[in-house]
Amino acid sequence: MPHPSRRTEDFTDSVIRRMTRISRRFDAVNLSQGFPDFDPPKEILDRLAEVAYEGPHQYALTWGAQNFREALAEKQSRLMGFDIDPDRDVVTTCGSTEAMMAAMMSVVDPGDKVVVFSPFYENYGADAILSGAEPIYVPLHPPTFEFDVEELEAAFSQRPKAIILCNPSNPTGKVFTRGELQTIAKLAQEHDAYVITDEVYEHIVYGPHKHTYMASLPGMYDRTISCSSLSKTYSITGWRLGYVIAPPEVTDVIRKVHDFLTVGAPAPLQEAAVVGLRFGDRYYRDLLEKYDGKRRLFLNGLDEIGIGHTDPQGAYYVMLDISEFGYESDIKFCEDLAEKVGVGAVPGSTFFREDVNHLIRLHFAKNDETLESALGRLSKMREKL
Ligand code: GLN
Repeated sequence: MPHPSRRTEDFTDSVIRRMTRISRRFDAVNLSQGFPDFDPPKEILDRLAEVAYEGPHQYALTWGAQNFREALAEKQSRLMGFDIDPDRDVVTTCGSTEAMMAAMMSVVDPGDKVVVFSPFYENYGADAILSGAEPIYVPLHPPTFEFDVEELEAAFSQRPKAIILCNPSNPTGKVFTRGELQTIAKLAQEHDAYVITDEVYEHIVYGPHKHTYMASLPGMYDRTISCSSLSKTYSITGWRLGYVIAPPEVTDVIRKVHDFLTVGAPAPLQEAAVVGLRFGDRYYRDLLEKYDGKRRLFLNGLDEIGIGHTDPQGAYYVMLDISEFGYESDIKFCEDLAEKVGVGAVPGSTFFREDVNHLIRLHFAKNDETLESALGRLSKMREKL
């Protein structure tokens, strides 16, 4: 048998997706991989039913259907505060997973360095390896997950090609302040680096925190590659609709990479999603209110159980401190949690570059009944583990 490629030897399959499979095996309430168990907005589903008969069912333009890009550019121009040209600045991708990978492959050459904050969403490690980049990890220090400016300066002094910025951050729930973003922006400008953002939780930011788009900071539009998706905003994670917004010199390259990776995102789903992109501000207010309610419900439940946890400023993840259970391996802990307690979680070590084994990540993007059932099970954790 010939050997598989060496570049794939250095990473395992996704631990997040593996935990979903383990949760299914034990019929656990799956709070590992972050996706909702409630329906997308009815308007989008009604439109999907129409599209089933009206089409399109063949390829859209490789960089995205015209009306999808137009609706997206209009929405994001309003939010990001600058004019986005649907014909030049946008590439529609298969989820932000592809957006990030295409962005990395478009600006990074093998051997280039890329700054990644730790903890980080696990895809970035694989993105770096597959594009040949060498990550420089900069810690976000708990409990507030702030970075140390000197540590970030030291990373930039190694002349990275890009920095990856997940804001709001998965798994910490950190929302970067304007001041922090300005510090990152200044270093990116001084050292001539790109900022590749992952902003899929842009609408899930709990007051008083506010989301600031890196691309909206003075002078940053030219070097920022903004990646996001419709998955979390419209509860359609399975539709695989994501996008990149960047200046034309960058989208020209990303379009090529994207074309040869996937040709395009699903045409009928782009068409059906347009109605969502045209929702007014009210939709996003209601979405936030809904997630804020879930956050309170879930965190209050955890407080009643008396287990230490992070306090997310955005997104829908919380990290629990499992030190008291005395496990050496958080992976084993999560396997036991799924099997004996009936709740699926992600081992924290998946996200950290540092040696961290006492945290697990749960998400609360679920119906209230599902969350209550999970809390009921978690309340028996001390008896069962
Ligand atoms: N962002 C989700 C998570 O962190 C998963 C996304 C995915 O599996 N593609 O759980």
